[in-house]
Amino acid sequence: MSDRYAVIGNPVAHSKSPWIHAEFARATGQDIEYLRLEAPLDGFGRTVEEFRAAGGKGANVTLPFKEEAFRHCAALSPRARAAQAVNTLIFDSAGVRGDNTDGAGLLRDLTANLGRAIAGRRILLMGAGGAARGVLGPLAEAGAARIVIANRTPAKAAQLVASHPRAPLEARGYEALAGNSFDLVINATSAGLGGGSVELPEGIFRPDALAYELVYGRDTPFLAFARAAGAAACDGTGMLVEQAAESFFLWRGVRPQTAPVIAALRVR
Ligand code: NAP
Repeated sequence: MSDRYAVIGNPVAHSKSPWIHAEFARATGQDIEYLRLEAPLDGFGRTVEEFRAAGGKGANVTLPFKEEAFRHCAALSPRARAAQAVNTLIFDSAGVRGDNTDGAGLLRDLTANLGRAIAGRRILLMGAGGAARGVLGPLAEAGAARIVIANRTPAKAAQLVASHPRAPLEARGYEALAGNSFDLVINATSAGLGGGSVELPEGIFRPDALAYELVYGRDTPFLAFARAAGAAACDGTGMLVEQAAESFFLWRGVRPQTAPVIAALRVR
């Protein structure tokens, strides 16, 4: 029987993970089956344990369960502990181990695929939810000169800054960004999912800046704003595939090629 994995979320019907992992498995000759599991909102732990008891080897976790997954794990990687959120579960004889591959996925897309340097750059991170927590540590470790975190609820941005005392971080309200400019502006809010936007001041993009939208597969107001301001703009498709590749590597010990999968996903 093939080794079984799954993406667990609610809703999960829209997830592209089964297709991405099937592509990775085909390209690397790995014999796996990858399912969608919609857990009831009050039944995440039960769904994980039933899948594990049925022989599952691991799972990806998506909205709204990443924080609950963090609490469910018997062991955590340092990056999952720093993010306080888990998107990858590994089932082994020791129980359920949790990791978070979102930050590694974003970093790889930015540096390997888009050719952007992080070291010495000024970064604006919009949002302070699970995704922002996942990417903040890796961005800081990559040597960003300064990371400003802006969030609709300012207290959450301040909490994030406090949780990384050694990193060059600063929390600000959106209204306090005027007069600042950045090499990289990352939208880690979910505003674009519903076609909404967060207002940014003129002049927020430095020359040659990149605007990176974590939402994928659609043109959001943030991307349109960035293009109109003359910045390069990119959606989160590359991050989605790269975080999946990192999960695949954790499970199978094989690193799949991502470029063909990203290209195929963009035209689907
Ligand atoms: P989350 O934990 O629910 O956090 C949502 C964030 O968006 C919060 O900071 C929230 O601010 C902010 N927000 C929501 N609506 C807003 C609005 N109208 N105006 C301003 N701010 C708003 O969600 P998440 O897990 O961090 O995910 C965020 C986004 O990243 C989602 O769209 C998700 O699909 C995407 N994502 C993509 C990838 C990828 O691989 N490409 C990976 C992970 C996540 P408050 O704190 O004020 O509520």
